[in-house]
Amino acid sequence: MSTVKVPCPQCKKKLIWSSDNPHRPFCCERCKLIDLGAWASGDYQIAAEMNPDEEEFSTGMVELSNWRSPTIH
Ligand SMILES: [Zn+2]
Repeated sequence: MSTVKVPCPQCKKKLIWSSDNPHRPFCCERCKLIDLGAWASGDYQIAAEMNPDEEEFSTGMVELSNWRSPTIH
């Protein structure tokens, strides 16, 4: 098997694409958390604010979390 290398979406460092890498497509947990943090801190909210369907989307998210709760408990 040949080794596939892909650039980390966060730091652009090349990483080996392997099922042994739990953080792929990121190089490490840190880059993964940074990317998730970017979503949480609102870096991507500009697009959402321009979306007229935002309210509908948010309602769907609430329904999804309510639906999941009984499964967790
Ligand atoms: Zn990285």
